[in-house]
Amino acid sequence: VRHLVLVLGDQLDADSAAFDDFDPASDVVLQMEVMEETSYIAQHKKRIAYFLASMRHFRDELIARGRRVHYVEIDDPANTGRFETEIGRAQRRFKPSRTIALEPGDWRVAEKLRRLPEPPEIRPDRHFLCSREEFANFCEKHPRPILETFYRAMRRKTGLLMDRENQPVGGAWNFDAENRKALGRNSPAIPTRPSCPPDEITADVLRLVAKRFADSPGKIEGFDLPVTRGEALAQLDAFVTERLPLFGTYQDAMRSGEPFLFHSVLSGPLNLHRLQPREVVEAALRNKGAPLNALEGFTRQIIGWREFVRGIYWQRMPHYADENALDADLPMPRFYWSGNTDMRCLAEAIGHTIDHAYAHHIERLMVLGLFAMLLGVRPYEVHRWHMSMFWDAVDWVSLPNTLGMSQHGDGGIVGTKPYAASGNYINRMSDHCRHCRFDPRQSVGEDACPFTTLYWNFLDKHRRRFASNVRMRNQYSNLDRKDGAELRAIRRQAAAISQRVT
Ligand code: FAD
Ligand code: SF4
Repeated sequence: VRHLVLVLGDQLDADSAAFDDFDPASDVVLQMEVMEETSYIAQHKKRIAYFLASMRHFRDELIARGRRVHYVEIDDPANTGRFETEIGRAQRRFKPSRTIALEPGDWRVAEKLRRLPEPPEIRPDRHFLCSREEFANFCEKHPRPILETFYRAMRRKTGLLMDRENQPVGGAWNFDAENRKALGRNSPAIPTRPSCPPDEITADVLRLVAKRFADSPGKIEGFDLPVTRGEALAQLDAFVTERLPLFGTYQDAMRSGEPFLFHSVLSGPLNLHRLQPREVVEAALRNKGAPLNALEGFTRQIIGWREFVRGIYWQRMPHYADENALDADLPMPRFYWSGNTDMRCLAEAIGHTIDHAYAHHIERLMVLGLFAMLLGVRPYEVHRWHMSMFWDAVDWVSLPNTLGMSQHGDGGIVGTKPYAASGNYINRMSDHCRHCRFDPRQSVGEDACPFTTLYWNFLDKHRRRFASNVRMRNQYSNLDRKDGAELRAIRRQAAAISQRVT
């Protein structure tokens, strides 16, 4: 064999650089299902099934293209369960003159490959619109990189949503002010997401997961995720025609029993490289009936945030994982695994996660993440929980979003201020508080909303760090209106909440 081409579970792109000079007559593809990857962190059953079913379908797509694939299934008795040993086994068997791999998404996996006795040739990952080198150069020019500057540079570089004079379409870079509407009684109906019923290959995987990963978190029932490129493209198409027009307007809204709303639910196929970011944005921009606030908002998520967090990850790993700027030291509350809490917003968001391995961005940031940050949970633990519970969770995107954006553990790299809010924010953006036993306006007493109590306690506790942040001036002037007795009561109640939930 000339080349052994390694394809990791999140690199399912038949046109990646790993295949550039692929010769079907003399090269072999290696795909491995290794136990270590499904067990180094406990994982949602749907996440495991999504990865395995996608990998197996990709194998068949490659074979259909005439490529020879050596595929090691998880229950193959000869499978040693680790990347290192499986690559070694394949190298001994095929004796390739060269092993080729794409740069891995995760720092941990990149280290494993680098330390192999016969390390592979690593090729750049063209999936991303901004290479690691380009991001490093951007950081040299902007030592405190912020999303907005990066996003504008990406718009100029890609030409996406730019007019003939290379100015932003519509005369503005950002339409966020139009994208904060809550759903009311008379809001438009929410289109149903098309389902992807399991075929035989997926059904096999579902049986395997139900048996072998019975103790893993989450529900396997109702699995309907897009595991082929064709299904991913069909999901993209349905999103663009049916949900994109209202994506922007209701981007931050939450509603009981509605996990998906107008979101795309495309993070899974994007992260496994079944879809390319550029094709996703171009498909959206072809919908001429969608308003600019939706098109811009969606483009920003993909060519802005997604590329930005990946850049930050590779700039700051491995130390990034240990950052804990707010010295948070509590463990994850136990109810995050069961949804068993009388806080209605958390029960809803955790319920969506257990059922679908999905919660949308605002549920992740302003409910699940917010409560953990206000409480003071160790940021890396929040990341680990996140990795355990979401179908789209991979280290390079979960870590900066969780430890950075949602927990402010990086001290202000991903976001310049903590996303701190009280129960009043959740009340404004959802219908949860109406069905909850707590009152979002109250910070002390029997009926006080734990978010509101913890919010004031958080501002008080971190006064030295944040009081001089101009973007938090209003929050601190509101805190300063509270008298000593109220503040003492808030501190006492916050301590009692911590004791109760951890
Ligand atoms: P949509 O709302 O439809 O957005 C479109 C696409 O934009 C997404 O599919 C995604 O690819 C991209 N995107 C949007 N926001 C972000 C962001 N902040 N960072 C990176 N990409 C973004 N996303 C993941 O893909 N994997 C994760 O493990 C992950 N962990 C997160 C953890 C926390 C605490 C938070 C606050 C956010 C996290 N995100 C993660 C980002 C974002 O919440 C998800 O990408 C999004 O909710 C996925 O649902 P969707 O496809 O319906 O997204
Ligand atoms: Fe959540 Fe507080 Fe509203 Fe209850 S009152 S749903 S705990 S924000």
